[in-house]
Amino acid sequence: MIFKLNYGEDITQAITEKCRRKKIKSAFVFFIGAVKIATIGYYNQKTKKYKKIFINKPMEIVSGIGNISVKEGKQFLHAHISLADKKGKLSGGHLFSPTIVFACEVFIIPQKQKLVRKFDEKTGLFLW
Ligand code: ZN
Repeated sequence: MIFKLNYGEDITQAITEKCRRKKIKSAFVFFIGAVKIATIGYYNQKTKKYKKIFINKPMEIVSGIGNISVKEGKQFLHAHISLADKKGKLSGGHLFSPTIVFACEVFIIPQKQKLVRKFDEKTGLFLW
């Protein structure tokens, strides 16, 4: 499935909703484009908490990659994003909301394998 996100949409919300509507529970997800603002995260492995980094400027989406699986009975997008500023400098990390689209092309490749996330004590993350 190939589609675009609309100007002003939140990437995580829009892709997750699309998959819920289409009943896609397992998929590869890729996206490219540009954002108006972004929120990325770095997972601190000691504290087991995400440090959120807010980027309040237009950036290119150099690469967006992720997957759809099921967490607590619902479709869940796990994505990472690489962003470039006007000098070509990269920032990246775990994709959070709000990350607001300027323009975005999305490619979703559904998979047959069922993937369910469960809380993992060792990492503090919800893993397959
Ligand atoms: Zn992540």
